[in-house]
Amino acid sequence: MQRKTGQREAIKRAIREAERPVGPLEIRDLAEAYSPGVGIATIYRTVKSLLETGWLAPVEIPGGPTLYELAAKPHHHHFHCRECGKVFEVHGCAGHFQKMTPPGFQLEGHEVILRGLCDQCSAKSKVPQAS
Ligand SMILES: [Zn+2]
Ligand SMILES: [Zn+2]
Repeated sequence: MQRKTGQREAIKRAIREAERPVGPLEIRDLAEAYSPGVGIATIYRTVKSLLETGWLAPVEIPGGPTLYELAAKPHHHHFHCRECGKVFEVHGCAGHFQKMTPPGFQLEGHEVILRGLCDQCSAKSKVPQAS
């Protein structure tokens, strides 16, 4: 039992420290530092359980795998890098969605995904080709 608790804590710590949405493989790599040898089956099982308790929230990016982030975060959106595929957190919100909503409609939420290149990929794309 001790071991199980340790792994769960390691996984939670890894997700908390990632600071951007991460997938199961990345969670395993990060959790490895706190709980060496933690298996992918344990990651999937723990992620499922953390989703059920509401500690974790899924981040769905069309065309990509489901990623996960802490549920208790203030309102924010995501930036999806088309080169490395990573998803980053962006702060603030364009708002004005209420104004766009047709009369009589009841707005309950919105999703905004920014797309392009992250800082690292953008820097790489500017390097002249060495040929
Ligand atoms: Zn990138
Ligand atoms: Zn928003």
